[in-house]
Amino acid sequence: MTQRIAQVAIDIPLARLFDYRTADAGPGDIGRRVIVPFGRGRAEGLQVGILVALVEMNACDAGAPETTLKPLHSIDRDLAPLPANLIELAHFAADYYQFPLGATLLGFLPPALRQLQFRVPPPLAYRLTEAGRRHSATLKSNARAQQALAVQLNGGAQTREALAPFHTLLSRWLKEGWVEACHPRAETAPSLTPPLTDEQATTLEALRQAPGFGVHLVHGITGSGKTEVYLQRSADLMAAGQQVLILVPEIHLTPQFTERILNRFPDRRIVLLHSLLADGERLAAWLACQRGEADIVLGTRLALFAPLTRLGLIVVAEEHDTSYKQGEGLRYSARDLAIWRARQANAQILLGSATPALETWHNGQRGRYQQHTLSARAIRGAALPEIRLVDTRTDRPRQGLTRTLTEAIEAGLKRGEQSLVFINRRGYAPALVCNACQHIVDCPRCTAHQVLHRGPQGDRLLCHYCGHEQAVPPICPDCGSHDLRAGGQGTQRVEEALAERFPEARILRVDRDSTRRKGAFAAMRDAIQRHEVDLIVGTQILAKGHDFPNLTQVGIIGADHALQAPDFRASERLFAQLMQVSGRAGRAEKSGTVWIQTQWPQHPLFVALRRHDYAGFAQHTLRERRESGLPPFMHLALLRAEATRMASAIAFLEAAKACLPSPDSVTLFDPVPALITRIAHHERAQLLVQSTRREALQAYLKHWMPLLKALPARGVRWSLDVDPSEF
Ligand code: ADP
Ligand code: ZN
Ligand code: ZN
Repeated sequence: MTQRIAQVAIDIPLARLFDYRTADAGPGDIGRRVIVPFGRGRAEGLQVGILVALVEMNACDAGAPETTLKPLHSIDRDLAPLPANLIELAHFAADYYQFPLGATLLGFLPPALRQLQFRVPPPLAYRLTEAGRRHSATLKSNARAQQALAVQLNGGAQTREALAPFHTLLSRWLKEGWVEACHPRAETAPSLTPPLTDEQATTLEALRQAPGFGVHLVHGITGSGKTEVYLQRSADLMAAGQQVLILVPEIHLTPQFTERILNRFPDRRIVLLHSLLADGERLAAWLACQRGEADIVLGTRLALFAPLTRLGLIVVAEEHDTSYKQGEGLRYSARDLAIWRARQANAQILLGSATPALETWHNGQRGRYQQHTLSARAIRGAALPEIRLVDTRTDRPRQGLTRTLTEAIEAGLKRGEQSLVFINRRGYAPALVCNACQHIVDCPRCTAHQVLHRGPQGDRLLCHYCGHEQAVPPICPDCGSHDLRAGGQGTQRVEEALAERFPEARILRVDRDSTRRKGAFAAMRDAIQRHEVDLIVGTQILAKGHDFPNLTQVGIIGADHALQAPDFRASERLFAQLMQVSGRAGRAEKSGTVWIQTQWPQHPLFVALRRHDYAGFAQHTLRERRESGLPPFMHLALLRAEATRMASAIAFLEAAKACLPSPDSVTLFDPVPALITRIAHHERAQLLVQSTRREALQAYLKHWMPLLKALPARGVRWSLDVDPSEF
């Protein structure tokens, strides 16, 4: 006699599937959400899982299943099963990032589906089906209510509120298949497609000539019309009945991008998928994908896991952006997994950026990715901003601002144009310093300086790593002196300096603190666009794709700090960021100027930036990376450990290093304390593993992980990060 066994993925930290007895599960149930009993004795409870496979087992085999295995509790047949391609993707991701399959797969689901119970939110709108149209035509004149409903629905999709008076009738019509749920949308005409520039046309033509899987790097300066290429290529594939997935780094920071897509395709079903959605909205969006209703899915990295079965195109906008890398749990790179998914679906994938990640650029240079270049701004007459370096050794900044920059801002004000002062540090000052002994006040919980913030309740010290907040001490904690001062500049201090210097100007500060309230960022963006402010002090929040037609000048403060950062990607990030901020100046018919304050005006990064020469910068930096054995010439994994005592963290890593000798092709370094040694009382250490061959590294990790899990790790929290974005 054979017994059917269901293999179920569950969200627990074990890398295997769990077996359950089942009598009624069939092949059509693979991919379905199931509820299973889990745990022993009093700890037993129910868990959500995904049925991943069914196997037949002989009952006479050792460990006869019916005596040892529990039965499945239930199979959720109200939901369609997950498509096989997602389960495959989960297998790959779990394997590659060394993360449990169950946690990986369940992590693909919207949070609501990870709960035992969930409620499907009612559709937001309804429309007539073909059958409904036929039915309406046959209605007798005395069927008043039905007539009224038909008339209303004939006017197009209707929202649930609008149909509220027809509540009971609507349920009947739904049951009969005369109406169906749909997406509410404004009935607007699609925005016009502009005639393409030569470079856009060439790129689009090349993409059309290369159907099916292929990675395409769309390297185009800010404003060169990359988005227009994405839109037109999307239109092609949707016309062919395929689905488009568009990934953006942070959706709330790029509302114009979203609007453009919505406006271009008003008659397409566009599903937004990101973590800022409420659970119900996110579930509804996900289910729309699952039912095959989405034409375009637009979202952040997690949208990569949308259930899609007709995928024809993936766009990764601003592909270099670090928010594509997930920092916890499954530490995946959405860009890298997107390429895998595109290959799996035989879809085309576009990686777009003005400053591609060096990995991507390197692959473009050696022909693994097809490269397309947009070198001029799409709008006729729009020039690139002029970039000027202000030498802070001769023009010494006062309160962060050099004379050159101050005068430029003043001239801009006189012309009635806006200026942006970019400084990537929020708060008033990055340090509180004692003038007597030079002591800097640190966070008691972290190895980091406390940041001085100015608020309605006066000055406070805040730790940007652990959130610890405290009052400003009246005296130096080290020597007792009363002579404490703010050291360095933050956005608040620059705002203050500008207000003193330009009392008549309207000044707006845009950083994480000032935009915390929901909707605040959008309001500020609108205020800038409507020219209700003259001067803007902002962090990178403002750097991403916004059009500010009156903004002609950008001043950059504090770039030197970023240049000195110990992280090996620091200069790559700085270059990308400065290009992006510079792109804010002079987008329309007014040309712009960017002023960069630095004490190293000869630095190759700034020299390349002045020439808008990404290729030159990349070549130079790639040479450095090759010489120092760093990505993309080296593949890395980082084992991190933290404990209340550094010795325990290091001891764990020592044991980890010793538990599996590495082959010649793989190098394990000695454990070392992390860059920020302590966060919230946890001492942090790390161990770097590297290889010039990805396969060699992967093979090693695969053997290593089970051994790591078997190591005694009392009081030590650890995790493995494959392709870490920093170390
Ligand atoms: P990118 O995505 O490369 O930053 P966009 O696609 O946003 O560039 O284009 C920048 C600006 O140029 C936008 O205002 C866009 O509407 C406009 N634009 C794009 N392509 C064209 C074109 N072919 N003709 C005229 N304007 C264009
Ligand atoms: Zn002191
Ligand atoms: Zn802290």
